[in-house]
Amino acid sequence: MRYSALALAWNALTGNRNWTPAWRDAAPRDSYDVLVIGGGGHGLATAYYLAKEHGVANVAVLEKGWIGSGNAGRNTTIIRSNYLLPGNIPFYEWSMKLWEGLEQDLNYNTMVSQRGVLNLYHSDVQRDAYARRGNAMRLHGIDAELLDREHVRRLVPYLDFDDARFPIHGGLLQRRGGTARHDAVVWGFARGADRRGVDIVQNCEITGIRISNGRATGVETTRGKIRADKVALAVAGSSSRLASMAGLRLPIESHVLQAFVSEAVKPLVHQVITFGAGHFYISQSDKGGLVFGGDIDGYNSYAQRGNLPTIEDVCEGGMAMMPMLGRLRVLRSWGGLMDMSMDGSPIIDRTPVEGLYLNAGWCYGGFKATPASGWCFAHLIARDAPHPAATAYRLDRFASGRLIDERGAGAQPNLH
Ligand SMILES: Cc1cc2nc3c(=O)[nH]c(=O)nc-3n(C[C@H](O)[C@H](O)[C@H](O)COP(=O)(O)OP(=O)(O)OC[C@H]3O[C@@H](n4cnc5c(N)ncnc54)[C@H](O)[C@@H]3O)c2cc1C
Repeated sequence: MRYSALALAWNALTGNRNWTPAWRDAAPRDSYDVLVIGGGGHGLATAYYLAKEHGVANVAVLEKGWIGSGNAGRNTTIIRSNYLLPGNIPFYEWSMKLWEGLEQDLNYNTMVSQRGVLNLYHSDVQRDAYARRGNAMRLHGIDAELLDREHVRRLVPYLDFDDARFPIHGGLLQRRGGTARHDAVVWGFARGADRRGVDIVQNCEITGIRISNGRATGVETTRGKIRADKVALAVAGSSSRLASMAGLRLPIESHVLQAFVSEAVKPLVHQVITFGAGHFYISQSDKGGLVFGGDIDGYNSYAQRGNLPTIEDVCEGGMAMMPMLGRLRVLRSWGGLMDMSMDGSPIIDRTPVEGLYLNAGWCYGGFKATPASGWCFAHLIARDAPHPAATAYRLDRFASGRLIDERGAGAQPNLH
């Protein structure tokens, strides 16, 4: 069923009895051309673009829980392409371009809202670093504006400018950045993939990867064995666990990242704002809640919940930037599993096991990458060659030393 204003009106007038499910809850078949493991945004986008761009539709997405139950449904929904380094710039800008046309492409309201992403700076040194990043973006045709303190004050007058512990000197603004509705992104890709013949199989956990003569031949699952010519991993925080089933040890650690939402207030925060003197970022959801987060918890874990010291740290950062936050009550907090790579950048590559492909290392920034990640991973799987926008995301860069260390923090996931 195609969604349109006409369809909406017709269904409203006929008692909303004729809507059809957005996707089938498929049962697994014995074999497929491609198995995509993980029903998060990346896995579903991969399946969608495999079918749409490459005509490979004999595909199943296997998800251990329900689609979107991982990070795809837990993130703070920020999208942006304000990167500095050559390996990252083309990829994230390609993602931004895909976001800009995604709703028309999917015929689904993913609520892409280009409300702007404002990174605050608090010192001359930080201003210079932001100017450099902004210049790199502009050299690649990406929008970036360096704002002085008064310009920032006009945009967000409620921040702490005058008595602040970390005075705001200005900000780097990417107006095309913003937010998208995370679960709608999952559902939109699922619907698009399903319409092109992809099986979306939920409650199907991968328990083993079958390898014969150095080649992946399928998987073992809680719903039986499934054969495949190609197996593609897109399991984010569970990447090391799945890769170890194929005897691979990845340069990835899993960490917890928490997020928070306050009680609803009237429209107040009109952009995404990030604090430059600590790790804190905030936006406002369409329901009115302030959505915010900060650092990862800083210890290795596969638990999807975090600890109180990080909550205190995040709230301190928020209060230092925006003291009025202290008047609000936090409604909910939750955690997700970050696949932290050793340079903070992702991996989209083949593995040493023939027919086994890897999409991982998204750290806490993979939501914005969802469309391009799916696009480039599908290209790699279908053509066995990296997409031009993702050539830097090689697994062997950790051995060759060609790291993409955007934060300059070294092999320290807790500092990325
Ligand atoms: C609190 C929080 C805030 C974030 N904020 C942002 C943000 O603002 N902007 C941004 O760009 N990024 C953000 N991120 C990061 C982003 O959400 C992730 O990088 C991205 O969602 C990862 O890709 P995915 O959607 O495919 O992952 P997931 O949704 O985690 O998908 C992986 C799937 O694999 C499944 N799986 C795992 N093991 C198995 C198995 N054995 N068998 C079958 N299936 C399995 C899981 O159940 C899961 O559904 C945030 C993350 C969190 C947790």
